[in-house]
Amino acid sequence: MPEIPDLEAIRHYLVPRLAGLTVTETEAPIPWLVRTGAADLETLHGHGFGEIHRLGKFLVFFVDDGRLLVVNPMLTGRFHWVEQKEKRASRTGVVLAFDDGHELRYSDQRRMGRFYLVAGDRLDEVPQIAKLGPDAMAIEEGEFLARIRRHPGQIKSTLMKQEFMAGIGNAYSDEILWETGLHPHRRRSTMSEDDLRRLYRSMRDTITWASEIVDGTVQTEGLGRKEEWRQHLRVHRRAGEPCPRCGEAVKGQVRSGIESNYCVRCQPLFESSGAGKAQ
Ligand SMILES: [Zn+2]
Repeated sequence: MPEIPDLEAIRHYLVPRLAGLTVTETEAPIPWLVRTGAADLETLHGHGFGEIHRLGKFLVFFVDDGRLLVVNPMLTGRFHWVEQKEKRASRTGVVLAFDDGHELRYSDQRRMGRFYLVAGDRLDEVPQIAKLGPDAMAIEEGEFLARIRRHPGQIKSTLMKQEFMAGIGNAYSDEILWETGLHPHRRRSTMSEDDLRRLYRSMRDTITWASEIVDGTVQTEGLGRKEEWRQHLRVHRRAGEPCPRCGEAVKGQVRSGIESNYCVRCQPLFESSGAGKAQ
């Protein structure tokens, strides 16, 4: 599932490429992806896009008539910026053709992505957006500390809860917790304020670090080969490989269908003081 670094890189790649272009044709081979109605796409003919914002795991394309095209790529949504003559990827669901001969295509192996076209002041009509917490890259430390006090449970699931804070998923929660030295199943209620401040700083540092790498990769490789870029990650999907910090084999543990990866040595479940309780 694309997370903040992936979506930021897509945004940075597309903004300058879409500038000044006009939509000439649209198509929705998988019509139900467009939740506000596939016929909506035709109303984009003759229009162009300005800014693209990111809200959590949503991309918001500003249409030049004040409307917003909102896209949530969910698990496997992928954007392609290609010339019209190029062969379409499998499961291409939405196509926007522009007057310079390029197409912005969206493919989705699991076909779970969601498009919405809404008025500029109706963003709250998009399901989930109204409930989104502050974005992980916009939230201030004080607000982070205040909000996380209401979530005493396991820290990894809290980080992934979009109502608590938007933008972090399975991959980057693993990376942030490894960076902080916290076990993914550690309960927030057993963590000190110092732990939480370190967690906040690690989150910002990890996302900033990863965003630069993913940005560079996307600028070089272009869009369409992957929906997410994971080659730089230290523990996520690296079960059995050595922890880059201590050499211990990275552990993979599946709970509720989600695999968490962490280092048992760098991320002990119990506090070294012995204050933690066995589960
Ligand atoms: Zn380690």
